Amino acid sequence: MRKKLLLVAVLGFVAAQGHSDPPATLVRLSDRFDYPIGKPDALGYRMSRGFTPHGHLGEDWVGDGGSGTDFRDPVFSIGNGIVTLARDFRRAWGNVVVIRHAFIEQGQVKYADSLYGHLDRILVREGQSVGRGEQIGTIGNAHGLYAPHLHFEMHKNLSIGVCHTAFPGDLTNYYVPTEFLNAHRSLQAGSRVAALALNSYVMPTFPGIPAMPPLQGSDFLINTR
Ligand SMILES: [Zn+2]
Repeated sequence: MRKKLLLVAVLGFVAAQGHSDPPATLVRLSDRFDYPIGKPDALGYRMSRGFTPHGHLGEDWVGDGGSGTDFRDPVFSIGNGIVTLARDFRRAWGNVVVIRHAFIEQGQVKYADSLYGHLDRILVREGQSVGRGEQIGTIGNAHGLYAPHLHFEMHKNLSIGVCHTAFPGDLTNYYVPTEFLNAHRSLQAGSRVAALALNSYVMPTFPGIPAMPPLQGSDFLINTR
């Protein structure tokens, strides 16, 4: 019964968006954020390369046994959210998943995107609702471009997607991923939902890669699990 009521609320919400507004949906608030590997605390993994402003805009994670020991290990969503990108960017990034999260901070609803790069396999699709700790893919090597590792980013700016060059690579646009996780291990959430804007990315063009079609609002009629 509760599921049905929520679905009615979602459909009403989507219908109220109108044609000119960007597509939007509802998402379960994140109750906490966990590490994307060795959940919940990155057990068995270590950071091999950290975040540097205007340089490496995320963190690289590998198995404790060193690069290669983690190939095809599971990668998990750090929190509840909606998959906003799940695409193969070929030898630019390999397979990439981006998940958008809503959470309460100082009494206000805030949003962040988590990005998981160089995946061997993508196990989710755009528009899918995911829960914290749900497997979204496996650690990969970006089609042989790198030694296997997870490249993990946290975006404050919800327009970045995979287009680093369109925005300054600083802390106004990015979080230091582990700092974000460690500061958001326990959150006020309950079973509440929040409105979530979609289709906000500047879609990149890479040499030899077909232009990325924008995300469609109809892709985001969500399930409520
Ligand atoms: Zn990296």
